[in-house]
Amino acid sequence: MRDKSTEEYFSSKPLYVEDSYLKEFDAQVIKAGPKFVVLDGTAFYPESGGQPSDTGVIQCGDQVVEVHKVMKRGRNIFHYLRGDIPVGASVRGVIDWEPRLYNMRRHSAEHLLTGLFEREGAGPKVYSDLTRLDFKPSDLTEETVRSVEAEFNGIVESDIPIRIYYASRDELEGEEDERKRAFLEKIPRALDRLRMVEIPGHALTFCFGTHVRSTLEIGLLSELELTEGKKGRRSVSFLLK
Ligand SMILES: [Zn+2]
Repeated sequence: MRDKSTEEYFSSKPLYVEDSYLKEFDAQVIKAGPKFVVLDGTAFYPESGGQPSDTGVIQCGDQVVEVHKVMKRGRNIFHYLRGDIPVGASVRGVIDWEPRLYNMRRHSAEHLLTGLFEREGAGPKVYSDLTRLDFKPSDLTEETVRSVEAEFNGIVESDIPIRIYYASRDELEGEEDERKRAFLEKIPRALDRLRMVEIPGHALTFCFGTHVRSTLEIGLLSELELTEGKKGRRSVSFLLK
């Protein structure tokens, strides 16, 4: 039996999965409606897992139409537009690169921080996005936060390549970690081949997001703040330089 991967699951080829640095691409409109299109392939990252959607433009002949939001709905990736483009049109998509790169840096930082805090026994993590990580009640202290900060910055300076590879669902279902099993439950059953993202020696998770190529590109932390919430919950907010 052939493995199904993200590319086969979506009606549009998610070009951002194979190349997170693709800024412009050519495509055909396969579905269209009032102020939206679905393309046969797209480099626009749809809003997912705490990473916001890309913005940019779609060029169709002389027409340049703004893309203000991109969302997955079932098997389709919808581009929401400030204008209309007909089905069958040949178009060129252009991503607003500066915000996308900033999101990739912060999302890769989120992976690294998660790995480091988990190693320090801070977990389990219950939520994270591009600015913060939330943990269940634990004895996470200011001292641990400072030591993670120093370790994080050291790993950034070491310029470690971020590895992306595929693993089968079967290999991952034996996973002990409750949070990872819960995450796996949310992935459509139709997908057998899962994309793993590894910062070797520090963080490993499955993720279909966009990431920078190496830890050096993440950049140093300018802020890592611990806050104590209700019932002993701990939250750590972060900001990159
Ligand atoms: Zn990721």
